[in-house]
Amino acid sequence: MDKSLEKISSLIKKQIENFESQIQSDDVGIVISSGDGICLVYGLNKAMMGELVVFNNDVYGMVMNIEEDHIGVILLGDCNLIKEGDEARRTNKVMQTIVGDELLGRVINPLAQPIDGLGPINAKKYRPIERIAPGVMVREPVNKPLQTGIKAIDAMIPIGRGQRELIIGDRQVGKTAIAIDTIINQKNENVLCVYVAIGQKNSTVAKIVDKLKQYHALDYTVIINAGAAEEAPLLYIAPFVGCAIAEEWMEQGKDVLIIYDDLSKHAVSYRALSLLLKRSPGREAYPGDIFYLHSRLLERACKLDKAHGGGSITALPIVETQAGDISSYIPTNVISITDGQIFLITDLFNAGQRPAIDSGFSVSRVGGAAQIKAMKKVSSSLKIDLANYNELKSFSQFGSDLDDSTKRILRHGEVLLEVLKQDQYQTYDVIDQILELYIAKNYFLDTLDNKDIKNVLQRALTYLKSSHLDLINEINTTKDISNELDNKLKEVLKEFFKSYTK
Ligand code: ATP
Ligand code: MG
Repeated sequence: MDKSLEKISSLIKKQIENFESQIQSDDVGIVISSGDGICLVYGLNKAMMGELVVFNNDVYGMVMNIEEDHIGVILLGDCNLIKEGDEARRTNKVMQTIVGDELLGRVINPLAQPIDGLGPINAKKYRPIERIAPGVMVREPVNKPLQTGIKAIDAMIPIGRGQRELIIGDRQVGKTAIAIDTIINQKNENVLCVYVAIGQKNSTVAKIVDKLKQYHALDYTVIINAGAAEEAPLLYIAPFVGCAIAEEWMEQGKDVLIIYDDLSKHAVSYRALSLLLKRSPGREAYPGDIFYLHSRLLERACKLDKAHGGGSITALPIVETQAGDISSYIPTNVISITDGQIFLITDLFNAGQRPAIDSGFSVSRVGGAAQIKAMKKVSSSLKIDLANYNELKSFSQFGSDLDDSTKRILRHGEVLLEVLKQDQYQTYDVIDQILELYIAKNYFLDTLDNKDIKNVLQRALTYLKSSHLDLINEINTTKDISNELDNKLKEVLKEFFKSYTK
């Protein structure tokens, strides 16, 4: 009796041992649930955070959660192809993307597959999409301007190469327009551009591609599109893919401009992923590490020092607000990560002040160091003049009895706002901007009617270019307006504006 019991128990023990060795595999796991772009896998005990796993149907996924008894994987392909019981295998690789000049002029999805119908991209180099940002010792302060070609920005909120400047505002206030104009303006500036569209309609992105083509800006641009119809995982990785592509060029010593349009939708996709992975929700149901997500992305934009090639990544993240509320969670986060913000206001936009930039709330904390001297001279008083104007404007609504100096300030403010109006796709060369602002600053336009200002300015510029090219050349070479040049310009302009004074 005892003997047979012993036999049975040893048999059972053996079977249990075998059973465990069968399923305890480090490299192969089994899908226990799948849906909404997420799948939970049993096994894969040695899987790393961020590692790629491959499923039966060649669908790839990325490890996002490592729990005691299972791992959470975000799917980078069609999640309908994966069902319970499927196998998942480790690849021992982290997520990578193709990089290099072959991408210029192309439109890709976040998996770096072309979606422009122009055939395969024969890139030879790969880079991991996540990387620790360059340290303090390899960086240098921004010292070269990134000209957006938009008067209001280059004058009041200058951006330097290597800076991170947030574009923030409600729906339909011209956020994307600023970004696209900036790309168009890089044509002769030797800056490569990366435009990451996150959660936008495909038709909107197609329009942008068309416009860039029309202005010959696609040749130095790559567009990464994670459309609104895609699953959350693709939206989540899109900006990191764009950043990796930009980093490759930066390390070659080139200047790169990257636009994340927009990070609000990126945050929403990350929130969806996190909730599906059962991470605990925090403020506004976003996971606690949403700040870390955006800071580790934006920290990768920087200016490298000479010893490391001197390249740079300038980042223009875009954030959408609800009813101008910049104190909600994602806007405050991204404001504190960036080096300044361009704040767009619906009321200004509707009143015809386009670009609808609020000069009071918008700042650039480091870009001033990169502005050329001549621009600094003509734009130094611009913000103060506009602030004075705005303050007096609210008072002047109460009564019409204003003294002369108040009237003068109000009129000058109106003129400055008129000069700062600018149509889409009409970018300005920096010298033209300087000349226009110089004319406005010196009160030459204050006696004109508002509707004439644009025309007269254009005529003045043509006149200066045809009859006084030496003066313009001097600004171009010295990048400054010396006292002597200042006097000469005033003389010339006085002569020109004689016929316009009433
Ligand atoms: P969304 O919130 O939908 O992304 P957005 O803030 O990115 O919108 P845009 O798409 O750039 O806004 O612009 C909204 C509309 O305003 C567009 O039709 C665009 O053509 C127009 N627009 C933008 N900037 C200007 C401008 N400077 N002058 C005239 N029209 C402009
Ligand atoms: Mg937009």
